[in-house]
Amino acid sequence: MTTGPRPFTGRHAIVTGASRGIGAAIAAALAREGAALTLIGRSESHLFRNAGQLRASCDVPVEVAPADVTHDDELAAAIGTATARLGHAHILINNAGIAEPAPVLQMTRDLWDRTIATNLTAAFVCSRLVLPGMIDAGSGSIISMASTAGLQGVARVSAYAASKHGLIGFTRSLALEVAKHAITVNAVCPGYVDTAMAQRAVDSVMTGTGKSVDDAVRAITRTSPFSRLLSPEEVAGVVVFLCSAAARTITGQAIVLGG
Ligand code: NDP
Repeated sequence: MTTGPRPFTGRHAIVTGASRGIGAAIAAALAREGAALTLIGRSESHLFRNAGQLRASCDVPVEVAPADVTHDDELAAAIGTATARLGHAHILINNAGIAEPAPVLQMTRDLWDRTIATNLTAAFVCSRLVLPGMIDAGSGSIISMASTAGLQGVARVSAYAASKHGLIGFTRSLALEVAKHAITVNAVCPGYVDTAMAQRAVDSVMTGTGKSVDDAVRAITRTSPFSRLLSPEEVAGVVVFLCSAAARTITGQAIVLGG
């Protein structure tokens, strides 16, 4: 059990997509720094399991607020409950995301709409819900999980790339609007990270080409100077830094991880 004052003690962080992968790693990293947490996602059993583990290992308050981020009413209820229990949010992590490949001619309107709603519109809705509290407090950090696909085109994932390009545009614009309130707004753009999402990309390469797992991983990471998957913990470390006092002059940035 961790005890004593930690840098984020007294700060409330809301993390979307906290049931697994990068979101779960970010929640854990913020909890280790002492932050109180609200975990948002659809998989209630995973959220409650993660919350129990974080309360036990980090001795911080952790609330579970189940919500589908594409449903505005669920998000409003989740964030309303979270702030009633833990106070206004000092930190918002827009992490929930989906990536389902399809060439443009085979992409359904439904997949396009779901991707934009999950990866882009939810960040706008969450930001609007937490901003009044941050503005009143005169500080705050909003971090959105974008991608290198937010900075360059990627064949077969045009909806995903469009959503992440949009997320970076939203980040840069919101940063300009709220800098006067000492609120920073940044995007993190990792290459492939070792989660279920990247596993699906590896599986797709294996199915399409007959490559081995190792060769499929090499294929999807070949444009990274490190030539490997990043770990969720490596991404979480950068997010914690961006929420820290040391990063208070960094805003409107799209920070690439993995080169
Ligand atoms: P995972 O597929 O492992 O996890 C996705 C998370 O998003 C889950 O917690 C899921 O929770 C949540 N989520 C998805 N849809 C919804 C929804 N409608 N409502 C609420 N929560 C939702 O992905 P990663 O951890 O890999 O990805 C996290 C973020 O990082 C995403 O935005 C992704 O685009 C980005 N990213 C990932 C990279 C990678 O290689 N893995 C690379 C670059 C960026 P639940 O199912 O419980 O709702």
